[in-house]
Amino acid sequence: MFLKNTLSGRLEKLETLEPGVVRMYVCGPTVYGLIHVGNARPMIVFDALRRYFEYRGYRVIMVQNFTDIDDKIINRANEWNVDFKDVAEAFIQEYWRDASALGVRAPNFAPKTSDFVPEIVNAIEQLVRKGHAYVVDGDVYFDVKSFPKYGELSHRSLDEMIAGARVEVSEKKRFPLDFALWKAAKSGEPSWDSPWGKGRPGWHIECTIMSTKLLGSTLDIHAGGEDLIFPHHENEKAQSEALTGKPFVRYWLHNALVRVSGDKMSKSLGNIFILREALKKFGADGLKLYFLSKHYRSPIDFSIEALEASAKAARRIAESFRNFESRFSSIPVPKSDAWMSEQRQKFVEALDDDFNTPKAVAQIFELVGELNKFMSEANEEKALKTYHLLRREFCSVLGLFEAGAQSQETELDPFVRLILDVRKELRERKLYDLADSIRDRLKSLGIEVRDTREGSTYSFLKEV
Ligand SMILES: [Zn+2]
Repeated sequence: MFLKNTLSGRLEKLETLEPGVVRMYVCGPTVYGLIHVGNARPMIVFDALRRYFEYRGYRVIMVQNFTDIDDKIINRANEWNVDFKDVAEAFIQEYWRDASALGVRAPNFAPKTSDFVPEIVNAIEQLVRKGHAYVVDGDVYFDVKSFPKYGELSHRSLDEMIAGARVEVSEKKRFPLDFALWKAAKSGEPSWDSPWGKGRPGWHIECTIMSTKLLGSTLDIHAGGEDLIFPHHENEKAQSEALTGKPFVRYWLHNALVRVSGDKMSKSLGNIFILREALKKFGADGLKLYFLSKHYRSPIDFSIEALEASAKAARRIAESFRNFESRFSSIPVPKSDAWMSEQRQKFVEALDDDFNTPKAVAQIFELVGELNKFMSEANEEKALKTYHLLRREFCSVLGLFEAGAQSQETELDPFVRLILDVRKELRERKLYDLADSIRDRLKSLGIEVRDTREGSTYSFLKEV
């Protein structure tokens, strides 16, 4: 498999530190509010990538953190007159609700900053001792000039970085790009003991500590949104490598952003679409198809129309699956043949090429067309093979058709079928007005019935 590494800017063959194991870290949310559609992109993409690694035979150890010590959380806690931990805990729970509704699997470890403060303090002490950090009035700063490779990940010189970044101005810093590892306590803020007095960790050091404590000094994959490359990931890399003397990450992967009229979708710009609302409107699979139809390194211009089209496509695919499934009480596993191997090879070739999900999704659409065709031709054997590839392999590898909304539809299925059986009998007894009334009432509940020569089929007009 080849992946584009942000560090080299090139496609590189995936070779993990330990053969057969992928150690993977994804920067998680700062928990002070509900997440939005822009946040969902890395969740969907890197969950699918993790599933794909597993499909290719790797064991994956995935860590995604929660930033629970942060100005925004502290401000909210003061506003609400509660402890910062209560704010963080509440939004961590909301995050899990959204992730499960979206059908994104939980990582193996989901550490919180506040659980790692002693380890963070210890690492900062080492950085000071090694001459990579300095103490000023209870603050500790990383000395960027002590790390000659600084800028390597963002591919920019120190001057370019100073010019391009909104660098926090402080008289305490020796150099504008130096960043806080530890911040001295201010009143009204939570604080922890340290050799430099009471204070709290800066943002970047937490990811260094949580990733290396849980995965080792060198990670195979570090992923996140491209807005994190500078300064967050550049800083993580500098601290980690200054600390351990080893390369921090083998492959840096960054997804492009979701833009709204040219700007990135972000809480601070106030142009967000809350994920929970989007899930209600477009469904988990509509959202997943929308994001996976684009390459993860290409920006997406947020579009309601495109999302609606994806939601519609997702409903059509789900309907094809349901139609096929209704023919069996239990669906057999087909014997693999040359055609199935060819399809698998095509799928793997697409995803091995820097995780080209648009190609894989196009193949899924093609196969859904085939499935419908084989069903209408009553070619049971071919239909079964196509269904198997689609549902049990390709869709499941991309995390499609597995989320809560879909399972609710699956739960409703036996009841809808019972109603349709009764309606069929009514029609056979020529009680057409009753049969029509059932059809109309189902439609008002969001279930559309279509009568065909082979019998009646149905689809959900909206997410249930
Ligand atoms: Zn991070």
